[in-house]
Amino acid sequence: MPSSGGDVASGGRRPHVVLIPSAGMGHLVPFGRLAVALSSGHGCDVSLVTVLPTVSAAESNHLDALLGAFPAVRRLELELAPFDASEFPRGADPFFLRFEAMRRSAPLLVPLLAGAAASALVTDITLSSVVIPVADELRLPCHILFTASAAMLSLCAYFPTYLDANAAAGVHGVGDVDIPGVYRIPKSSIPQALHDPNHLFTRQFVANGRSLSRAAGILINTFDALEPDAVAALWQGSVASPFPPVFAVGPLLPANIPPPASNQSKSPANYIDWLDAQPARSVVYVSFGSRKAVSGEQLKQLAAGLESSNHRFLWVVKSTVVDRDDAGEITSLLGEEFLDRVQNRSLITKAWVEQEEVLNHKSVGLFISHCGWNSVTEAAASGVPVLALPRFGDQRVNAGVVARAGLGVWVERWSWEGEEGVVSGEEISEKVKAVMGDEVVRRKAASLGEAAAAAVDDGGSSYRCLAEFVRL
Ligand code: UDP
Ligand code: UDP
Repeated sequence: MPSSGGDVASGGRRPHVVLIPSAGMGHLVPFGRLAVALSSGHGCDVSLVTVLPTVSAAESNHLDALLGAFPAVRRLELELAPFDASEFPRGADPFFLRFEAMRRSAPLLVPLLAGAAASALVTDITLSSVVIPVADELRLPCHILFTASAAMLSLCAYFPTYLDANAAAGVHGVGDVDIPGVYRIPKSSIPQALHDPNHLFTRQFVANGRSLSRAAGILINTFDALEPDAVAALWQGSVASPFPPVFAVGPLLPANIPPPASNQSKSPANYIDWLDAQPARSVVYVSFGSRKAVSGEQLKQLAAGLESSNHRFLWVVKSTVVDRDDAGEITSLLGEEFLDRVQNRSLITKAWVEQEEVLNHKSVGLFISHCGWNSVTEAAASGVPVLALPRFGDQRVNAGVVARAGLGVWVERWSWEGEEGVVSGEEISEKVKAVMGDEVVRRKAASLGEAAAAAVDDGGSSYRCLAEFVRL
């Protein structure tokens, strides 16, 4: 990487990497981790482009804590261009709208970055087709940090070719997508929005997919043992050609950030104490990430399933899309009687918990997860088995990775958003009991945890990939 930052003790010049993340914790968290890894572990100067106000409170708390704990990481504030959300359907996902607002503001990056003496940009996939031209104008290499799975990157890279072939053959609609060198993604696992060619997400996805070949390199938050096929196929150019160098640098490790004060005040301070009091591997941890609500009916079935599994559980309940409007009470969502019946063996909260800390706790034996990619990599890093309950977007693709890698179990016929029906409490209970007692899954998950630790250790595959990226 060309250098243009400040002097290092040796007299050399440090590369200055400017990171441009997108909205949502699923995107911000891995960018923060990369910022710390580059700044503290690989001798780079790092700046982080931020947009205020953030969509969710979780993002602004996280940014404050990150930048407070790592003052070497500088902040570059991007002011958005005026954006009229009324041209989009009512109730459009607020995170997709923010992606679009950021995309339209990309030209404003030119003056922001012109004086920053950057040596390279690293941006999010959701912004790639609009940031690459900015980088070209500034004559800077533009890399992408892909914050989801290598399987999903291969879908993003191949999807435009797939659509072009369909159009040429007069085929309408999206079916199974057989990604060359990777595997077939069944129609039912394709993110819901991609079935609609006019959906805002689809338009962005296709534009970004077409832009990938113009990136200088792509970092992926995955590791070889988790996704060997997809990483190899991308690297060899089987998915799309030409294709930039691909660096599997995951699992990006949590930066040691003290929880922000605003989170602490909302958090049930006792969740770690509660976990401390439970026997080893006895607790089912249940969480569906930071950015999507689970429907009321599905919440009820989950409650019934957890109750009749007879296991202990720690459940983070999320019933709204953006945490700022999260006012519903647990009692009104789940009912007082249910809460009474399970109170001796559960902790249920709507507050933010430090998921890494939870997954690394010895009393946690299973993670019921929506399979947001950060959650999957965190489960893998902790060696905790996953019971996949994908809800939307890339989550079925990720659940497929979980099942293939042996990190956990996914029942493919279970419904997700936009399909008829819900996953019944009875089925959830049965699977919880089965996976909690499954020694084979437990051992496989533990061995993936060891492989993850080896990958990021000095000299491991992910460590070497990041070092190679810095040398580019
Ligand atoms: N997270 C957390 N505590 C919570 C909820 C989420 O620490 O109560 C973190 C989680 O560890 C992960 C991120 O938020 O790093 C969520 O990202 P993911 O890709 O799993 O899901 P998304 O929120 O994007 O759907
Ligand atoms: N994605 C992609 N190309 C794009 C936009 C998104 O490959 O142009 C991927 C993204 O990395 C994620 C999935 O599509 O795997 C769903 O995106 P979204 O941001 O909605 O998911 P999140 O990670 O925030 O839950």
